[in-house]
Amino acid sequence: MLRTHNCGELREGHIGQKVTLSGWAQAVRDKGGLIWIDIRDRYGITQLLIEDDGNAAAVLLETARKVGREFVLQATGEVIERAAKNPNIPTGNIELRLSDLEILNEAQTPPFKIEDETDGGDELRMKYRYLDIRRNPVREKLVLRHKIAQEVRRYLSDQDFIEVETPVLIKSTPEGARDFLVPSRMNPGEFYALPQSPQTFKQLLMVGGMDRYFQIVKCFRDEDLRADRQPEFTQIDCEMAFVDREDIINNFEGMMRHLFKMVKGIELPEFPRMEYADAMRDYGSDKPDTRFEMKFVDLNDVAQNKGFKVFDSAEIVLGICAKGCASYTRKQVDELTKWVQRPQIGAKGLVYVKCNEDGSFKSSVDKFYSQDDLKAWAEKAGAEAGDLLLVLSGELDTTRKQMCELRLEMGERLGLRNRQEFSPLWVVNFPMFEKDEETGHYHAMHHPFTSVLPEDAEILKTDRYNARANAYDMVINGVEVGGGSIRIHDKSDQADMFDALGFTPEEAQEQFGFLMNAFEYGAPPHGGIALGFDRLCSLFGGVDSIRDFIAFPKNTSGRDVMIESPSVADAQQLKDLSIQLDIKE
Ligand code: ASP
Repeated sequence: MLRTHNCGELREGHIGQKVTLSGWAQAVRDKGGLIWIDIRDRYGITQLLIEDDGNAAAVLLETARKVGREFVLQATGEVIERAAKNPNIPTGNIELRLSDLEILNEAQTPPFKIEDETDGGDELRMKYRYLDIRRNPVREKLVLRHKIAQEVRRYLSDQDFIEVETPVLIKSTPEGARDFLVPSRMNPGEFYALPQSPQTFKQLLMVGGMDRYFQIVKCFRDEDLRADRQPEFTQIDCEMAFVDREDIINNFEGMMRHLFKMVKGIELPEFPRMEYADAMRDYGSDKPDTRFEMKFVDLNDVAQNKGFKVFDSAEIVLGICAKGCASYTRKQVDELTKWVQRPQIGAKGLVYVKCNEDGSFKSSVDKFYSQDDLKAWAEKAGAEAGDLLLVLSGELDTTRKQMCELRLEMGERLGLRNRQEFSPLWVVNFPMFEKDEETGHYHAMHHPFTSVLPEDAEILKTDRYNARANAYDMVINGVEVGGGSIRIHDKSDQADMFDALGFTPEEAQEQFGFLMNAFEYGAPPHGGIALGFDRLCSLFGGVDSIRDFIAFPKNTSGRDVMIESPSVADAQQLKDLSIQLDIKE
């Protein structure tokens, strides 16, 4: 080894020892007679001291004076007590008086500061990601990711799950996104698809008798990107045979509790369950942030038919109660109104009712409503003196979505979304199908392998698009951490499902014949779940973006700006693949 210790481990107990450290020069301070160099590696920082006291070798001083930021050094010397101690770092009581210093490699001045608070913008940090990874905040996130992965493996192995790798060059898996395609040279004109998830393979592993499978696996979806989305992302993918929903829920609630305990030292409570329909009604979202209440209140019966046309013509009038916000100024209310009117939210306007301390009400629709009317609203919403009612109206789904955004925003403004507080739940009983309003086609809300909720089996026969699925999502703090379902394991049920989704029997056979055939050879009842690993890491890390938990992420155009990918293929490669380009600007 080019070192006897790392840069984070020397303490007063090492005083008097001769040691060798290797690492990067974080900072150099040359005070004439004294030169200090801070040397850094993954484990910490140690101060090196070179004294020009007449005894130091000229060559040592000469070398030290050449050192610049990020030079790679090997430093040998004696551990001594530091005169001016630094309580902010673990090695702050000692320093190393050097007898030897070697420059192992020189470095250009980095394009941004390798410090916790860097001056580098996002794009620059990504271009030089290897330098960014030297910074504590990024390194710590990768270490956290590693810890979580280790605990996942430990927990699942202890429960008899076996990690099985599934192929990456496959054919389309219907998770609802666009596929990434890979041309096959050996089969001209044909393409592999990269897995949107290993869904069909894990089900085949159940037919294969593996009983309990998991994999920490890359999945690929060609979708437009957001802060919490990457074209390639990682799932903790799991499947179990001979189980029902309770078994899956218990197992993975157990895993999440284990992770929180081992990684964050937090004991999570038992996860409550919420029906999909209730989540939509009360929070306007299938992934409600339940760290705070502020549930939606349906004001139709108290707000309609009083002569206010906007409300009278609306499908729904929805309110939320912002506790203690009656003191909002005109300016604050106007600003909130503008906020909901932004194109991202798209509300036409915002109605408010201030519940004054003296028991009176002040509202933006005073013209249409008496004090008694407004009192009835307040009572319905559980609003008390000092509270502010915020009201939106319109078409049901749209208004719910808008109110969901407003609720989250108010939660944020009122400090109700503490990142150190965790509120988990299961959302269950999703609809089986979802209608695409543009095309009139039905999609599987989860995926086409999801079975019907047992109590809706009859509905599936008589009124199939209104049946509910035996599907479940794990939600924590408004983040969909994972989702899964009990699967169809019967060939004719699966064929019915494809029929409901508009596949002809031939199309179903061509795309999913392999799975339906497998179901003819003794498929056990089975079900599973997949958890979004990148998102889980960011939740543990207390930040919104998943990018820093991924060593080499892509930007929002799906580009890796460091390796400059995607890139143009050369003519010969295209020829080998029998591909002709026809690019129109
Ligand atoms: N394959 C599903 C997904 O990626 C998860 C599952 O049903 O297990 O969302």
